[in-house]
Amino acid sequence: MKKVYAFNEGGKDLINILGGKGGNLSEMKKIGLPIPEGIIVSTTACKEFFKDGKKITKELESEILEKLEYLQEVTGKRFEGENPLLVSVRSGAPVSMPGMMDTILNLGMNDNTTEKMIAIFKDKVFVYELYSRFIQMFSDIVMGIEKEHFFKLKEQLFAERKDEDKIETYKMVIKASKELYKKETGKDFPESPKEQLFMAVNAIFNSWENDRAILYRRINGIDDSMGTAVVIQEMVFGNLNEISGTGVAFSRNPSNGDKEVFGEYLLKAQGEDIVAGIRTPEPISKLKEQLPEIYDQFIKLAKVLEDHNKDMQDIEFTIENGKLYLLQTRNGKRSPYAAVKIAVDMVNEGIVTKEEAIMKVDPSVLPQLLHGNFDPEATKTAVLLGKGLPGSAGVAIGRVMFASERVETRALSILVREETSPEDIKGISLAQGIVTVKGGATSHGAVVARGMGKCCVTGCGEIQINDIKREMYIGGYTVKEGDFISISGYTGEIFLGKVKLTEPQFDDNLKEFVSWCKEIKRMGVRMNADTPADAFLGKGFGAEGIGLCRTEHMFFQKDKIWTIRGMIMSENPEERAEALKKMLEMQREDFYNIFKIVGDEIVIVRLLDPPLHEFLPKEPKDKEKMAEILNLPLIEIERRIRNMKDENPMLGHRGCRLAVTYPEIYNTQARAIIEAAIQCEREGIKVKPEIMIPLIIGVGELKFIKGNIKTEIDKVFEEQGMKVEYKIGTMMETPRACLLADEIAGEAEFFSFGTNDLTQTTMGLSRDDSVKFMDEYHEHGIFKLEPFASIDVRGVGKLVKLGVDLGKKANPELEIGICGEHGGDPKSINFFEETGLDYVSCSPFRVLVAIVAAAQSYIKNKK
Ligand code: PEP
Ligand code: MG
Repeated sequence: MKKVYAFNEGGKDLINILGGKGGNLSEMKKIGLPIPEGIIVSTTACKEFFKDGKKITKELESEILEKLEYLQEVTGKRFEGENPLLVSVRSGAPVSMPGMMDTILNLGMNDNTTEKMIAIFKDKVFVYELYSRFIQMFSDIVMGIEKEHFFKLKEQLFAERKDEDKIETYKMVIKASKELYKKETGKDFPESPKEQLFMAVNAIFNSWENDRAILYRRINGIDDSMGTAVVIQEMVFGNLNEISGTGVAFSRNPSNGDKEVFGEYLLKAQGEDIVAGIRTPEPISKLKEQLPEIYDQFIKLAKVLEDHNKDMQDIEFTIENGKLYLLQTRNGKRSPYAAVKIAVDMVNEGIVTKEEAIMKVDPSVLPQLLHGNFDPEATKTAVLLGKGLPGSAGVAIGRVMFASERVETRALSILVREETSPEDIKGISLAQGIVTVKGGATSHGAVVARGMGKCCVTGCGEIQINDIKREMYIGGYTVKEGDFISISGYTGEIFLGKVKLTEPQFDDNLKEFVSWCKEIKRMGVRMNADTPADAFLGKGFGAEGIGLCRTEHMFFQKDKIWTIRGMIMSENPEERAEALKKMLEMQREDFYNIFKIVGDEIVIVRLLDPPLHEFLPKEPKDKEKMAEILNLPLIEIERRIRNMKDENPMLGHRGCRLAVTYPEIYNTQARAIIEAAIQCEREGIKVKPEIMIPLIIGVGELKFIKGNIKTEIDKVFEEQGMKVEYKIGTMMETPRACLLADEIAGEAEFFSFGTNDLTQTTMGLSRDDSVKFMDEYHEHGIFKLEPFASIDVRGVGKLVKLGVDLGKKANPELEIGICGEHGGDPKSINFFEETGLDYVSCSPFRVLVAIVAAAQSYIKNKK
């Protein structure tokens, strides 16, 4: 099977084999754009590399050499020839992982090539600079010798010899660099370009498994097995002279989505200078003044690429001696705000269809959009410390942290760095926002932050960081690590302290985008809301009714907890009746308020399901208060608490087990629901209450409880002299319930999968305790995804599917949904679409995610 391709043998359709970089370069070649020639070692070769014990086989070597021959022919250049071929060797996975793997430039340099290059370019400084950079990059990436050693060595020699001949100094730098290489590796620096090439390919393959790449894949849910391709491309030199340069630009603004080419460049520089954020580059608009023809050509090409790929493009380019080359294009990472704007604009411009636009927005970053902006009144009075560049839209408030590893130890951090490097990936992923002193809007920090939907301010040169004292100086202030700042990725502003936020709001683009998703999706999206405030919020985000109202959560508010505590701790019917009376009043009012907000959409109220330990008083002062309320001695309260303690609370006296022991609890709740519904209907508000029984293990419990509830509801109807429509259904949270779903469906009017408990009971893993060992499960590849966050399709999913099939067969009218945490997770939502669920339900802040993910899953599955 073929493992090495020339650019003219590939295309976008082969991205899985050629990687994103290789596939897109081949595509550019196909449509005749100016790109330097090259060849690609495929991901297939990478997979075999790992299978073969991380060794490049002789067979692969000869295939590379064969294609290299072709490259030498088309470029008219040869390794060590009169006109020497130099190449860049770069990784390129099928999914873009910016900066996570490695790149080597100027490969092919050696003493012999140096002489030839000098003869051609007549610029010794330029050639020696290429050579010294190559040794440094090669040593760092291939042999793991830190590049800082080489920088230091070079800096030192130039400082010591500042009045001496520059060329001699360069020669000394090169000699010393090679000696350093030999000291560290025990081997001579490889002179043969072919040997250099094989070693480089080997290193790039290995970089697929470096820590930061593994972490990036884990954070972004990228499959570890896809491997990377290696792109070997003829070098063009942005550092040749004043009419040479290098840049990165987006076909639209990746931060705010504006329709303008947005990017940066540096004249007389090589690509790494920009992405590493070492020199702060010029905005692309300045190129219009410096090299107007190149600028015009680039703007045209950006449009060609955007139209061809039907998406905003992130383009790397190099100008060599006044000629423009494109080095890479890919769909650009963008802030959540820009993602929505670009999707909507591209439909309005006729570039993509609504369905195509919907597929372009990553739903999981949308909650970022809902955190609003700083209140304009508050920013007027807040202390403005300074201003950088707006790197990624959004706002963030957090404690300043100057090191990624310390971000991991504190909640609500803002990572402030001189410049971010790929090693900061974990810190960036955990921080609320990122600030960098150096680097432009295309530096790594900004690119990665944008991809993760994080707010980011870059290039704030006013900041001086003192790493030793762990403080920074900005705008005349000293800000210590741990102090709060507020940053805006819309404006680049950095404020001292916490600035007040506006209420979350939908802008017009988001409204339009969500309306398309709603039109297209099949599944309903409901919310998990326990209070009128939640219901109001979720409805605003587009929820279609309530899929789960956890009644025990209604008691979390301030003084209400004492009512439920009193009820739980009652030991005789009189005590309980007293507590239930209070509960009836409180709940009736809560349900009434929720029904009024939701109106004529379904509200599913789940009856009491407290793992009792969550509700019992723990602190001595609370126990004393309980004694006072129940008018009992403290010692009696303590005895009752001991009596009620379950050894396994999650599997103990919980869920509907409570109502088998004390039917009056559920009866009272059913009464509260129906009385509230009648009150609404009397006021002309149409309501659709549905009553849900939790945690059943078989039809017997359901029959028993349903019978009791119905009798109570009939009493209410009689007392009130009117009826309302209602349904009674059940949660599906135990394997046994799924296995016997057909029997249960005969008694239930609806099912709602409680995948939190179903995951817990199927896997036999405590939902509260598994965090203690989950990291190791990921580290050793036992779990790819966290099962309490993303549904375990193979195991838990199989039970869901069985429950759906058996349930619908026995009762075709049965409505089936899901209300565990998985209801707001895009990957899980895709599974629920495939399984044919009628709706998903999730917390108000995930409603948007669910609406977009439901639309995407429908589009995908329709195909
Ligand atoms: C569930 O178990 O998935 C569920 C929604 O119920 P709770 O989280 O309240 O146990
Ligand atoms: Mg549950």
